[in-house]
Amino acid sequence: MQYDVTVIGSGPGGYVAAIRAAQLGLKTAIIERYATLGGTCLNVGCIPSKALLDSSEHYHNAVHKFKLHGLNISGDLTVDMVQMIQRKNQVVSQTCDGVAFLMKKNKIDVFYGHGSFENAHQIKVAKADGSSQTIDTQKVIIATGSKPIVPAAFNYDKKRIITSTEALTLTTIPKKMVIIGGGVIGLELGSVYGRLGTEIHVIEYMDRLIAGMDGDCSKELQRSLKDLGFKFYLKHGVTNVTAVGETGVKVEFKKRDSEAIQVLEADYCLVAIGRRPYTDNLGLENAGVKKDERGRIAVDNHLKTNVENIYAIGDVIHGAMLAHKAEEEGVLVAESIAGQKPHINYNLIPGVVYTWPEVAAVGQTEEQLKTDGVPYKVGKFPFRALGRARASTDIEGMVKVLAHKETDEILGVHMVGPRAADMIAEAVALMEFRASAEDAARISHAHPTYTEAFKEAALAATANRALHF
Ligand SMILES: Cc1cc2nc3c(=O)[nH]c(=O)nc-3n(C[C@H](O)[C@H](O)[C@H](O)COP(=O)(O)OP(=O)(O)OC[C@H]3O[C@@H](n4cnc5c(N)ncnc54)[C@H](O)[C@@H]3O)c2cc1C
Repeated sequence: MQYDVTVIGSGPGGYVAAIRAAQLGLKTAIIERYATLGGTCLNVGCIPSKALLDSSEHYHNAVHKFKLHGLNISGDLTVDMVQMIQRKNQVVSQTCDGVAFLMKKNKIDVFYGHGSFENAHQIKVAKADGSSQTIDTQKVIIATGSKPIVPAAFNYDKKRIITSTEALTLTTIPKKMVIIGGGVIGLELGSVYGRLGTEIHVIEYMDRLIAGMDGDCSKELQRSLKDLGFKFYLKHGVTNVTAVGETGVKVEFKKRDSEAIQVLEADYCLVAIGRRPYTDNLGLENAGVKKDERGRIAVDNHLKTNVENIYAIGDVIHGAMLAHKAEEEGVLVAESIAGQKPHINYNLIPGVVYTWPEVAAVGQTEEQLKTDGVPYKVGKFPFRALGRARASTDIEGMVKVLAHKETDEILGVHMVGPRAADMIAEAVALMEFRASAEDAARISHAHPTYTEAFKEAALAATANRALHF
């Protein structure tokens, strides 16, 4: 069978690219090495982690907030971890089935098996039963995603020394967990177990959490997680992790500027220090596709590799490892192949951390503006000053708007607070239209809503004239 486009990998980058290519009239195939479609995001990433975050947040609220609302639980509130994981699995399988339906609906041929290049126009699919078949194709989109990074010294055994993949399947609540890495994935999964009562210890090499985000967000989030019981070891590096018998782990670590080894023992060690692009056994050399110095597939501004008919998108190339970034790139490549001239504004890809309070950001951080010497103004508004936040007892956090000092254009928006993940969309839309802080401040926001915090922060940035603070 001859295809116009063959996509390798069915994550949010790959399946969206396939749908858009099919919509544009291109005969499209997609190859997936696992039995379910949806990639990291749907199977072991965004969706299952959010399912567990929601479940654990309900429990945490029942234990810590219900009383305040006048709600008393008679009898013991207990956690049924097996049911919690089963519900998560159901959410995952419904979502993956949805992707399979979309492939059918768009007449995309799905091939299950490991895809690898025989040459630039032929992809071999090696199936689980040992058989294989070759697909002929005009264009190829590589969307093979990423895998967790685990250094050899951490002795990853998938039982007690685990990554996010295994952390999404635990059927008992750990007493104590050491998390290596204070980034998004470590803090989200730490929140799941911290809320259920696990003692969480986070070891982070940098001097702050969520290091790529605005410094104020790091501080606010650290404060909230400390209240949840997290213990932090910033500026510390892990040297060794070993299993202790069948039921425990020993984590050795030291301060960045010290040789003194410290030790933490726990039931589990979650390694969450980042992800590497996944190109194993892809046969890139058979097609002549080049990688960059960090093992990512090298692409130009149109996401084309050094080989004329081969493109790459998502986690396997440079840029933020985010599902919505991969999706935008999938659309861009499909439209480029169809002869259109699409564009992505990478500065306006929002970043979110689904802790509680949530963290969400778009555009430049204050640190970046300082480094680049851009003149800017800051407007901040704390959630505790908001009626809606007090009504729901979600008073932690703030919204920060950074605007250009002379033009008033919004340059960055950073939020820590309730529903920040959803609220950031307004800031993204306004920034796409290059709105000023005053534009944002003059838009009517329904009362009472959390979004009023954004309006107030924009007012504060415009002329230091927040109305309610
Ligand atoms: C715990 C966790 C939580 C996350 N939460 C979020 C979140 O809330 N929001 C967010 O935006 N991002 C989140 N992410 C990141 C997000 O999952 C990734 O950025 C996204 O999945 C990348 O999409 P992709 O299409 O590039 O690759 P992937 O989703 O990794 O998909 C790649 C697919 O390609 C397949 N594949 C690889 N090689 C081959 C081959 N040779 N042949 C056939 N198939 C192959 C793989 O099996 C996989 O299915 C999270 C990640 C993790 C681990």
